[in-house]
Amino acid sequence: MRLSRYFMPILKENPKEAEIVSHRLMLRTGMIRQQSQGIYSWLPLGKRVLDKVNAIVREEQNRAGAVELLMPTLQSAELWQESGRYEAYGKEMLRIADRQDRPMLYGPTNEEMITDIFRSYVKSYKNLPLNLYHIQLKFRDEIRPRFGTMRSREFLMKDAYSFDLTKEDAIHSYNKMFVAYLRTFARLGLRAIPMRADTGPIGGNHSHEFIILAETGESEVFSHKDFVNFDIPSEDTDFDDVAGLQAVFDKWTSIYAATSEMHDEAAFDAIPETDRMSARGIEVGHIFYFGTKYSEPMGAKVQGPDGKEHPVHMGSYGIGPTRLVPAIIEASHDENGIIWPASVAPFDVVVINMKPGDEGCDRLCDSLYAGLGKAGKDVLYDDTDDRAGTKFATADLIGVPVQVIVGPRSAASGEVEVKDRKTGAREVMTLEAAMNRLVG
Ligand code: ATP
Ligand code: MG
Repeated sequence: MRLSRYFMPILKENPKEAEIVSHRLMLRTGMIRQQSQGIYSWLPLGKRVLDKVNAIVREEQNRAGAVELLMPTLQSAELWQESGRYEAYGKEMLRIADRQDRPMLYGPTNEEMITDIFRSYVKSYKNLPLNLYHIQLKFRDEIRPRFGTMRSREFLMKDAYSFDLTKEDAIHSYNKMFVAYLRTFARLGLRAIPMRADTGPIGGNHSHEFIILAETGESEVFSHKDFVNFDIPSEDTDFDDVAGLQAVFDKWTSIYAATSEMHDEAAFDAIPETDRMSARGIEVGHIFYFGTKYSEPMGAKVQGPDGKEHPVHMGSYGIGPTRLVPAIIEASHDENGIIWPASVAPFDVVVINMKPGDEGCDRLCDSLYAGLGKAGKDVLYDDTDDRAGTKFATADLIGVPVQVIVGPRSAASGEVEVKDRKTGAREVMTLEAAMNRLVG
């Protein structure tokens, strides 16, 4: 992408309305624009990052055996009357009427709709287990939308729903998502800690919030320090291995971790003082086993091996991609701007032409741009007439992992400078060496 032809409206001044660093940086880099309270457009730079986050979320869902579909944002109120949640959901639900005056709503979540899809097609235990997910916008009329897309009213959610014949099978489905979440957050460059969450009237040990630590987090969290040393399950995890997944779950839930709502002071105090960690955190995911809460009232039943009909055991599993983007920035930035982990960076490389119009600079830059593009890299080519200082500041601000700087003096000898955004390390090398470094 040539910067001269791109749309990346960088702001010169720090936006005053932004209280936290991720919100400030997302506005300054032109990743997002607020359209009305808690409702955002994703501008091209932001959209690139969001797409990369979604791709990783999707890959890990698929790896764990979940199957993607797409449900609409607008739902009929009828389904919610069946489950009893239409009244119960309260003011967070945006209620709308269509031209026939039929009550509709902008979905805040999709348990009812997915249960309806399930009951319409699946009749036998032989078609289980099943886990269906989508990545779709939700609307919740939050009392206090804030921090940009961290807590917005319209936001993207990956929500998966599992269906099983028995509770035991449902726990295995839960463990699949538990492992998929550990892998997803690790690939996004985040260390997320699963913390026991309130299961409300359903009870049991089967709801976890995945929290990443950040000073600006809205939750207060208490945990054992050892989480930092735990291994992330590998890419070739066998998701059908019931005991294997249970062992991962047991390990990751063997030490203390709780948000303030679930905090048990006595249990926390029992941890040696040097191993205690009390901090603030951001909830980036939430998984939940809720048994037959929806399948019973909505009649989602399958025939079991005994020939009888049984309401299915369900779970739901949410991740917020539009919250993850600012969460990643909270975890990875410095005074000059964002430092993207390579896995979600909007571009892999930025090529900075210090003197467009200079024959040597243009030639080297063109050759880098073409060569890297051919090798499958996402390249931003700064071919603008901006001052050198502006170009450097922009490159640092938008946080692309590698910068290749091409100035007239080194270009004359066929050399470029390669700068690592994170460490700031710079190295002068030949064009060929730079290509090998970046592609190799
Ligand atoms: P919170 O306690 O932060 O309001 P929640 O418990 O309401 O979250 P869930 O219903 O479990 O959230 O939704 C699943 C995921 O969707 C959350 O873990 C979060 O990543 C994301 N999410 C929820 N609400 C918002 C929001 N208002 N803005 C952005 N992302 C959100
Ligand atoms: Mg909420």
